[in-house]
Amino acid sequence: SNPHHNTIIIGAGAAGMMCAAHSGGDTLVIDHAKAPGEKIRISGGGRCNFTNMHAGADNFISSNPHFAKSALKRYTQWDFIGLVASHGITYHEKTLGQLFCDDSSKQIVSMLMTEMEKAGAKLVLRTAVDKIEKTESGFRLMLSGDRQGAVSCQHLVIATGGLSIPKMGATGFGYDVARQFGLPVTQTRAGLVPFTFDETVMKNFKPMAGVACDARVTTDRTAFEEAMLFTHRGLSGPAMLQASSYWRDGEGISVALMPGTDFFGQLKTVRTTNGKRDISSVLAEILPRRLGQYMAGLAGASGNIADYSDKKLQALADLLSCWQLKPAGTEGYRTAEVTVGGVSTDALSSQTMMARDVPGLYFIGEVVDVTGWLGGYNFQWAWSSGWAAGTAIAAA
Ligand code: FAD
Repeated sequence: SNPHHNTIIIGAGAAGMMCAAHSGGDTLVIDHAKAPGEKIRISGGGRCNFTNMHAGADNFISSNPHFAKSALKRYTQWDFIGLVASHGITYHEKTLGQLFCDDSSKQIVSMLMTEMEKAGAKLVLRTAVDKIEKTESGFRLMLSGDRQGAVSCQHLVIATGGLSIPKMGATGFGYDVARQFGLPVTQTRAGLVPFTFDETVMKNFKPMAGVACDARVTTDRTAFEEAMLFTHRGLSGPAMLQASSYWRDGEGISVALMPGTDFFGQLKTVRTTNGKRDISSVLAEILPRRLGQYMAGLAGASGNIADYSDKKLQALADLLSCWQLKPAGTEGYRTAEVTVGGVSTDALSSQTMMARDVPGLYFIGEVVDVTGWLGGYNFQWAWSSGWAAGTAIAAA
């Protein structure tokens, strides 16, 4: 097989396959996994939340919030939706603009494989890159596995993703390549990940495992209003996952249970109409039962509701809409959907994803310091950044 290629892409995930579909012929895609697009396959509960109708730069976290704009504007969610539709894949909106396949996420993987083949790109699996060297006209790579020996290329694209789910083969490879070529890497941490709490808190939370309720979760930086879920390990559900991407070690979070509910008004009404009722049973009716009982216990509320003054009811209502919690940490990369942080956008062109100081070297997808919210945004970044690098290479 030919040891020289115009383009080599390391990583046959969402971004790498998208890039290969646009980078022109003579592209070799290398992955150490047994199959391409494994994260696509398991995503969205097997239906892949492949984009979001409301995607825009505001839905991304990055040291430079402007960086993602260009690629997102030039290859939009509507472009990807058009591609999906042209392959006869049917889809639906689940909630909040989130688009899922009607049938299976495997359709997205086959679509990308088809597009890669159409473009003439070749894929080698079960192959590791042991070494990368800069040459005068490009790069030389040493491979091991199914494909062995030296290969060279003019354009080298790093699309190896982030650190989440190491069991699926996630590695820090992309960050190491960045460092090798002198590109800064911002601090990385697990994102879209459940919160954990210390033992004393967990003793109280565990009996509530399975309880879900709408909540507005506020961190020092932002707020999300979606469902939250108690698990036997801590707090999860979309509202908590979203908040986790903004949360830093040691910080607290503030939780408004059932936002929009007039707890004070409801409690006052019961006091007037049914003063002999036990206040904790009243809370167990307003909130999901076990959560209501827990919150009553937390507030030390018991006895006839008639004995509660306006001031005491207001304090109780305030607790429900401003419940302060201090996570001990998160479940970490083991279950995180994404890695926040990555190859610094300062070092990359937002038009082409090419390293400013290393001509021919590109970084795309999750390895870059651009992280999407929950809801299809991370895949949209993979499509947009992969497209931006691919079309730039094809035009070079
Ligand atoms: P990846 O898709 O992770 O691809 C990286 C590729 O590089 C992999 O094929 C890997 O095998 C390969 N690789 C890694 N290291 C090496 C190496 N050293 N040598 C060779 N190859 C290597 N996002 C959404 O938008 N919607 C969702 O519904 C969604 N659901 C998710 C569910 C789960 C459980 C998880 C974990 C993530 C989910 N995400 C979702 C996030 C999304 O999967 C990622 O953001 C996206 O896949 C990133 O694309 P990527 O191409 O940059 O990296």
